[in-house]
Amino acid sequence: MSRIDLPLQPNGYKVQWSYLPRQFSAEKIEEILDLFRKFVPTGDFTLGKPVREFEQRFAAMIGTRHAIGVNSGTDALKLSLKALGVGPGDEVITAANTFIATVGAIAENHARPVFVDCTDNFCLDVDQVEGRITERTKALLPVHLAGQMTDMPALMRIAQKHGLPVIEDSCQCILGDIDGRRAGTFGRSGSFSLHPLKNLNVWADGGMIVTDDDDFATVLRQLRNHGLKDRDSVVRMGCNSRLDSLQAVVGNWLIGQVDFITDTRIRNATYLDEELARIPQVRLPRRFSNRKLVFHLYIVFAERRDELLAFCKEKGIEAKVHYPVPLYLQDGLRCYGYTRGDFPVTDRQADTMISFPAHEHLVEEQLAYIVQTVGEFYGV
Ligand SMILES: *Cc1c(COP(=O)(O)O)cnc(C)c1O
Repeated sequence: MSRIDLPLQPNGYKVQWSYLPRQFSAEKIEEILDLFRKFVPTGDFTLGKPVREFEQRFAAMIGTRHAIGVNSGTDALKLSLKALGVGPGDEVITAANTFIATVGAIAENHARPVFVDCTDNFCLDVDQVEGRITERTKALLPVHLAGQMTDMPALMRIAQKHGLPVIEDSCQCILGDIDGRRAGTFGRSGSFSLHPLKNLNVWADGGMIVTDDDDFATVLRQLRNHGLKDRDSVVRMGCNSRLDSLQAVVGNWLIGQVDFITDTRIRNATYLDEELARIPQVRLPRRFSNRKLVFHLYIVFAERRDELLAFCKEKGIEAKVHYPVPLYLQDGLRCYGYTRGDFPVTDRQADTMISFPAHEHLVEEQLAYIVQTVGEFYGV
């Protein structure tokens, strides 16, 4: 195979992490600004028509009865827990390796996060959940990290046995599924993020909650809008967490592309899986034939990870680590009393994981360049 070299992109890399400059090219920006020009004169800015339309389309895409727009993925989780009645003294079981927002949503409800170590697919190890349940446990909060899936059928059996509600953090797993059942549809509700770096992304913060439970949906709609039932009736204490109408305009523009985004990421990941599997120093996470993994992040385990990361960056590949310091060891979480070694799989993964760009705006040569560079590093 001939050696590939690639031109430097504007941010100094040859294979960029961010797809935003390509996704929102000058021409696409104009398309969206035209939609803004039509919408702005309506003044329908507070839970307006674009929000209702986006909610309906989102619910149809996931296949749930309801979708409720909120102002971030974090708030989607926070309000879901609040709607369950999670509060001071309660415990919520979640994954030891996740993004801080999952734990922040628990903490903002004054509850305590109880971590469970993860498996080789980065999601919580369902076999360890029962050992963590106490009389204070109020909910289970699995995280479908990196577009992988928690073993939801097994987790739901445990939840039912103990009468515990489940809230899914599906922020990184839009359109992921197990045997055709989508992420976010197993538990009482599923939470999605519309952050610029998520698979369905808008131009600022945004989030969405999906549920099939009519009563739960009603409570969530009230919670995101000051606890108002109608203009003059406050029926519970809520907050202002409305999805911005302009962001819903962007969301409506993008939502038709989510299948393309997902399928392209899966194709890119399949290529990288096949090629990187030939390199003995690289190990792939477990793949499952009955699960659709949507590769929000493409992560593999690598020997001499830090050296490989530095080498890739020097060669112009914007690789990253998700996440180099496990959450339970972060200074801000010291109050929960966890100590180094509590979650050995999470620790091992933090030392060996590396994330490569696999997004839908990469071209074939860029993917081949990743493989070439990793092979070059290990001399294979
Ligand atoms: C992004 C993310 C969130 C929070 O979403 P925001 O929209 O940024 O608030 C929560 N959990 C996980 C796993 C995420 O990746």
